[in-house]
Amino acid sequence: MKYISVLGSTGSIGTQTLDVIREHHDELKLCAITGNNNIDLLEEQILEFSPDMCCVMNEENALKLKNRLKPNIKTEILGGMDGLIAAAEYYKSDIIVTAVSGMIGLQPTVAAIKANKTIALANKETLVTGGDYIMNLANKFNAQIFPVDSEHSAIFQSLMGNNQKKINKIILTASGGPFRGKDLNHLKNVKLEDALKHPNWSMGKKITIDSATLMNKGLEVIEAKFLFDVTPEQIEVVVHKESIVHSAIEFCDHSTIAQLGLPDMRVPIQFALFYPERVENKYESLNLMDIGYLTFEKPDIKTFKCLNLAFDALKTGGTMPTVLNAANEMAVNLFLNKRISFLEIGNINEKIMNLHIPQKIDSIETILEAEKFAKHTIMSIL
Ligand code: NDP
Ligand code: MG
Repeated sequence: MKYISVLGSTGSIGTQTLDVIREHHDELKLCAITGNNNIDLLEEQILEFSPDMCCVMNEENALKLKNRLKPNIKTEILGGMDGLIAAAEYYKSDIIVTAVSGMIGLQPTVAAIKANKTIALANKETLVTGGDYIMNLANKFNAQIFPVDSEHSAIFQSLMGNNQKKINKIILTASGGPFRGKDLNHLKNVKLEDALKHPNWSMGKKITIDSATLMNKGLEVIEAKFLFDVTPEQIEVVVHKESIVHSAIEFCDHSTIAQLGLPDMRVPIQFALFYPERVENKYESLNLMDIGYLTFEKPDIKTFKCLNLAFDALKTGGTMPTVLNAANEMAVNLFLNKRISFLEIGNINEKIMNLHIPQKIDSIETILEAEKFAKHTIMSIL
């Protein structure tokens, strides 16, 4: 039996992780869950899975949930960041699925690494904000990190049986999001509702907006650099609107290996939970004859500037990716609250990067300081 903690169990990745656990309940047991606002769903999850621990980041909600539960329920309810960290380092957990949205995932992930846990990493912002610091820490504490993001799972799977040092390039595929093929004139007037309509994937709001700006692909470029130790020049982004080829690696002998499948996040989640085993499931089969053809095109980096900003941040290094990630998180929030327009997200990210003098990351404090810089600077220019 493998014991699993799911940080962000009420979200898109979190609920799909619980689907996988439900389907494989003979081998997987949920022992800790966390959420923030959705205490109705947390309550349902407690009743169904009886985890030992449930943490609600929002302390008021934690109290509300505690008061709702009948006295015979054994699940311990915790609140705040301390609770999130307790779930991340819970002694029973074998695997921690990091499925919270945003850089709030940093401290729990660091705690899980220090507790020698295996991490199924969905929360890409953690790796973007922490970069080498996180990877070095994972090395030091012998904590394994298995990617959940579909592209990185594809790269990870394509690497199996191969030598990472023999990678020529990584081919990172992108759906292009809801505004693929549109120009700046069109994007000036797009509404929040339009940006939230992703053509292939149903995901949380933050990542859906990131997919529309192509920032998601930018964050994934940074994530790939740190996970697979390649240079930015070795990462090629290709728009593939069908989302069937999840990514590929070209090796030094010019043989290219890709991983394909229908767009279903439960596949990479299951792979991370059972690695290195392959386990049967009931999901739909890929039928290439039904799909007919697959298309590939260059990303439009003039219209979607966020992708280039990510490459720039990566090349600059230090705290620049941290600041880009924090600026973007805040800008996306402002857009979700209808306070700025769609195109302003990229403009804000660019401005904050231009105002930042990057530092070397040698501690978690440097990361938190850089995040604070981004947030304060945005407030001052709004
Ligand atoms: P969702 O928005 O659907 O879920 C976010 C989860 O985090 C929820 O459980 C939410 O709790 C919790 N949460 C939100 N804010 C806080 C906070 N301040 N403190 C503690 N917990 C919080 O996101 P997704 O599942 O879509 O994405 C999660 C992560 O996985 C992201 O980093 C994303 O980039 C990555 N990812 C997602 C993919 C997808 O298909 N969805 C694909 C690849 C990567 P509550 O609901 O209770 O408020
Ligand atoms: Mg992805």
